[in-house]
Amino acid sequence: MIEVTPGIYRMPLPLPVPNLSHINTYLVKGDRGCLLIDTGWNTAEAFASLKKQLAELGIKGKEISRIVVTHAHPDHYGLAGKLKALFNATLYFHHLEKDFIETRYVHMDELLQEMGQWLNQNGVPPERLPELQQASLPMLKFVAPAMPDTTLYGGEVITCGDFSFNVLPTPGHAPGHICLYEPDRKLLFSGDHILPTITPHVGLHPQSGSNPLGDYLDSLNRLEQMEVNLVLPGHEQPFTEFKERIEGITLHHRLRNAEILAALNSEAKTAFELTTSITWLHDVNGVGWYKLGNWDKRMAILETLAHLEAMRAKGEMEKFNRDDIRYYRSPQKSREK
Ligand SMILES: [Zn+2]
Ligand SMILES: [Zn+2]
Repeated sequence: MIEVTPGIYRMPLPLPVPNLSHINTYLVKGDRGCLLIDTGWNTAEAFASLKKQLAELGIKGKEISRIVVTHAHPDHYGLAGKLKALFNATLYFHHLEKDFIETRYVHMDELLQEMGQWLNQNGVPPERLPELQQASLPMLKFVAPAMPDTTLYGGEVITCGDFSFNVLPTPGHAPGHICLYEPDRKLLFSGDHILPTITPHVGLHPQSGSNPLGDYLDSLNRLEQMEVNLVLPGHEQPFTEFKERIEGITLHHRLRNAEILAALNSEAKTAFELTTSITWLHDVNGVGWYKLGNWDKRMAILETLAHLEAMRAKGEMEKFNRDDIRYYRSPQKSREK
């Protein structure tokens, strides 16, 4: 537990995944109850760690009267249902995330079916389909779902003690992702929208909207106009180089587009073919995808798709169907035909 500014504490909670060691939850002290930003996974270890850090601060669970979740991914939202019930707290999150709770965490059959079809149409070979289609199922046990008591739309101001937090919709990593901005101290709680060294995952899938990477880059552009002294991210360490980081992430996406275009090599390819021929995790041999776990393999395909559709929205890519499989090609190629 670390005091990031008087009255605001970062409480890292452990995550049971290899390449991400912890999620940051933040506690804001108020005179009439405290505010918790993000919750961690629903594991005994995360819950014990939260209890321990609260005890070190001299805070009783029941003093947490409000919980704000930046987006409904298991690492940020997993403990929400349990904490809400235990502390009798009011839960806040964005209406677009609320729409997914039922299909993702309660009745998943339809979404599983859709995901299978989605992967199939984007070129995943039948023998790989089951493992990729079901890759998210192990995550379910880490989520105790709950609906928000207060649904956010963006533009709200949530006050706690001396602090007031503006709710900023920042779609892209998740359609209903929000950041919280504290204008007096110029603090930005960035969730997974901006992380100091990791480039946040942005994927195209049945619940992502039609151009999530376009949404993501637009959200980044809007944020870049703001004055931010300290970014408090959902993972890794708080940092001050706000604009430089935005520029770094934007450049990363430009380079990825260029890499995909080069892999396309003026042919028509599926998202799966492209995904398996570009680099992942700094693997220079271009076979990195095959070394990933199923969850990461699937995220990689969805990321490639997000790039393809973002380029398509700008007229830099074309898509066509052949035997119900989607192929991408550069517009240049179709003009030559
Ligand atoms: Zn996330
Ligand atoms: Zn996260």
